[in-house]
Amino acid sequence: MGVRNGRQVLAGLRDGRQLWMDGDRIADVTVDARLAGGAQSLAELYDLQCDPALIDEMTYESPGTGDRVGLSFIQPETRDDLVRRRVMMKRWNDHCLGMFPRSPDFLNVGLAGYAAGADGFGPYADNVRRYYEHVRENDLALTHSLTNPQADRSRDVSEQLDANDLAARVVRETDAGIVVSGARMLATLGAFSDEILVMSAPTFPLPETEAAKPFAMGFAIPVATDGLRMIARPPLYPTGAGSAMDHPIAARFDDSDCMVIFDDVLVPWERVFIHRDVAVFNGIYRHTQAHAHMAHQYSVKDWSKAEFIMGLGFALAKSTNIDVHQHVQGMLAELINTTEFMRSAVIASEAEAIETPFGTMAPAPGPLGAVRFMFPQLFRRACEIIQNMGAGGLFMLPSFAETEGERAADVDRYYQSANGDSRTRIKLFRLAYDAAVSGFSGRQQLYERYFAGDPVRSAGFLYQGFDKDPHIDRIHTLIDDLEAGMTRSDTGPAFRLPGIPPQ
Ligand SMILES: Cc1cc2nc3c(=O)[nH]c(=O)nc-3n(C[C@H](O)[C@H](O)[C@H](O)COP(=O)(O)OP(=O)(O)OC[C@H]3O[C@@H](n4cnc5c(N)ncnc54)[C@H](O)[C@@H]3O)c2cc1C
Repeated sequence: MGVRNGRQVLAGLRDGRQLWMDGDRIADVTVDARLAGGAQSLAELYDLQCDPALIDEMTYESPGTGDRVGLSFIQPETRDDLVRRRVMMKRWNDHCLGMFPRSPDFLNVGLAGYAAGADGFGPYADNVRRYYEHVRENDLALTHSLTNPQADRSRDVSEQLDANDLAARVVRETDAGIVVSGARMLATLGAFSDEILVMSAPTFPLPETEAAKPFAMGFAIPVATDGLRMIARPPLYPTGAGSAMDHPIAARFDDSDCMVIFDDVLVPWERVFIHRDVAVFNGIYRHTQAHAHMAHQYSVKDWSKAEFIMGLGFALAKSTNIDVHQHVQGMLAELINTTEFMRSAVIASEAEAIETPFGTMAPAPGPLGAVRFMFPQLFRRACEIIQNMGAGGLFMLPSFAETEGERAADVDRYYQSANGDSRTRIKLFRLAYDAAVSGFSGRQQLYERYFAGDPVRSAGFLYQGFDKDPHIDRIHTLIDDLEAGMTRSDTGPAFRLPGIPPQ
């Protein structure tokens, strides 16, 4: 079949899924006012890849069928493949300002990574390979749900059965497959995905115990599967707003977050990827390096996001001429540097890409790891800069509807700025409000902190896995050299700092 267009994607979401929001069951996510903006944005992404002017940039020839399929599904074999994939992802993420973080490329690159290293799934390897091909050829959009509900984080999930029996686990096996009951948090894009992938989270490893085995599962099923229910948080777009221009980003890019409930859900054997295997569950990211590909995608997304906020900062500062002040220039320089950092990290990860044992290339994890840890802070700071520059102007704004209301003449006169008429100023400041102050922005900030797992535990893993010895040895050489230099009578060099072998 190959790439789908937006119309086909929207039609696929009218599948009778059990999605609940605000106490209602959503009859059709593509038309419900709380969700239609997100659905439309998703459709636009798929239309982009079908645009005849972009088809070569956005797609490649399927190795299985020869059909054009999305480039985010490619299993890169060369650095050039990584670059091609990045160009495609940058176009999608630019289209969404980096603010629709679960554009389907995120899981497409992850699934391609799992499939490339599918031997790590042991007896289920072929299921993973076939599933990847199925998703690629049918251009499906996935969500994933990796973590257990937040009930008691002082004990491992497998030690909590006596308490509430909350977390999803395999409750029995049948000839047809495994049966799963319980809940998983949290599935972004759940409202708009065709399928859900349930896998492990590197920051939530399981212990090697018998009790942990039912939780050691991995599988994928359609969202519209019997017994699968999703409960979405309320929308970030206030549907009662005077004008959609009052919340211009939230109106388009709320990608939804859902709790996923499995009520005796049958997962057919052909869709099972991990079953009762704690070692595979805990080690699959390390083995397949799928996370390096996902990090490539989200670093491109962060690059798009940083570029958008930088442009917004320039426009905001120009509108009231505050860019004549030096500290404002300093804040704008921070936004330039953030964008440059994201761009450099992505390019470095491609330039230093590594060959995997499966004949593919994975982007170098070092630069992308730096993005994962730095971007949440840099993005929060970027929002703070927009707040500092917009100041009271971010809150004196009327609804955009006022530009055509009874008070339009007042609005025309009193909301102008040095470099823009009132309509332009209101549009610009409402955009800034939505990007950096609103509930939508708050969710983006929290997303950046947590979507890739708890940064505290991830930082621990980074430290533990880092090759520290050459650095420690170097410091010891230095202090010994320093001591020798202090006690020496000649005037030769006090010390020689040895280099560090490349990591
Ligand atoms: C907006 C958003 C979207 C997301 N989308 C997805 C998604 O699509 N799919 C998905 O699978 N996940 C998603 N996540 C969830 C993400 O995986 C988790 O938020 C992340 O793994 C952290 O888990 P938690 O939220 O349960 O926090 P918790 O584990 O409850 O942690 C809360 C706090 O307690 C501390 N803490 C808890 N336990 C420990 C411990 N053992 N050691 C040290 N500190 C601890 C943490 O450091 C943190 O400060 C999303 C999260 C957000 C915020």
